[in-house]
Amino acid sequence: LLRRTFGSRILANPRAFSFSSAASTPIRATLFPGDGIGPEIAESVKQIFQAADVPIEWEEHYVGTEIDPRTQSFLTWESLESVRQNGVGLKGPMATPIGKGHRSLNLTLRKELNLYANVRPCYSLPGYKTRYDNVNLITIRENTEGEYSGLEHQVVRGVVESLKIITRQASLRVAEYAFHYAKAHGRERVSAIHKANIMQKTDGLFLKCCREVAEKYPEITYEEVVIDNCCMMLVKNPALFDVLVMPNLYGDIISDLCAGLVGGLGLTPSCNIGEGGIALAEAVHGSAPDIAGKNLANPTALLLSGVTMLRHLNLHDKAEQIQKAILNTIAEGKYRTADLGGSSKTTEFTKAIIDHL
Ligand code: NAD
Repeated sequence: LLRRTFGSRILANPRAFSFSSAASTPIRATLFPGDGIGPEIAESVKQIFQAADVPIEWEEHYVGTEIDPRTQSFLTWESLESVRQNGVGLKGPMATPIGKGHRSLNLTLRKELNLYANVRPCYSLPGYKTRYDNVNLITIRENTEGEYSGLEHQVVRGVVESLKIITRQASLRVAEYAFHYAKAHGRERVSAIHKANIMQKTDGLFLKCCREVAEKYPEITYEEVVIDNCCMMLVKNPALFDVLVMPNLYGDIISDLCAGLVGGLGLTPSCNIGEGGIALAEAVHGSAPDIAGKNLANPTALLLSGVTMLRHLNLHDKAEQIQKAILNTIAEGKYRTADLGGSSKTTEFTKAIIDHL
């Protein structure tokens, strides 16, 4: 299951081939601890990676306190350059004000680094019981356009307009990524999720591109599922799905739904894939302001995101070792964070994982 889920690397990355676990010099990777619970869970990742002797040297960048005119956000130009130079990174959650204020730092990162696909594996954890024990799916979210294009304005007083942009180029690119991923990881089915019955032009174009790419992969079963029906099917029987590809906003929503199937946002990792082989891993969840600074956060989602980064770097032995330690700790049940029904603090859970390495 782990191999099918995280397989080899996320996608062919020419840079990744030059690294190996036997590398004598450490690999530089960017780390954004982020906001809210970010610094606490990033600390957990650093401690566990260090205990497992992972040959990574972190280059840490913090969200700034002033807008950098070059990025138009609190994210500095230097921090973006760091990801460009290193090619890999791990990102904590970044908070965005609701309905006002600065541009989303997540959007800035995705746009500036052209992180076009967001890959979100979601699977039942052995030994951690939810209503399902057979979830094993991957959502692949188009990451650069759709309703997230940030094109909103007031038409007249009391009327606002938000533009949903779908392009052939971005749709083909993410569809190609999804089919390539499915083939490379021995997966059998790709489902394109849409609302083309209503969004005939935008989702219609997205589907057209998926169909075009599907023709190049006759070994993969291709299907199209309307998003509302997809939600119902996921809740009723998640085993019906394998790889799901979808426009930006649907991916945002569906992946949280999927996290709920396996135990919540504390568990689900993701990796943003960019042009030129950039991989920026991050948890699916946000900055969790309700529990920030209380030593309550579950670091698993960020840790498993770190594991996807290690696989991207071809550091499979380390990835396997850390992933097993996390899953065994959770399965054993003695140390679990509050979101999983336990009473362990973030730091106690971290120590338990280190003891399982
Ligand atoms: P959230 O994901 O931060 O929290 C939702 C719920 O899940 C909360 O009850 C929280 O306590 C819980 N939760 C999340 N992660 C957890 C963890 N690791 N361990 C235990 N419990 C966890 O979503 P939200 O409250 O809607 O958003 C808060 C902020 O995060 C907002 O500013 C939003 O814009 C931002 N956000 C950022 C990202 C990102 O950086 N990629 C993603 C989503 C939301």
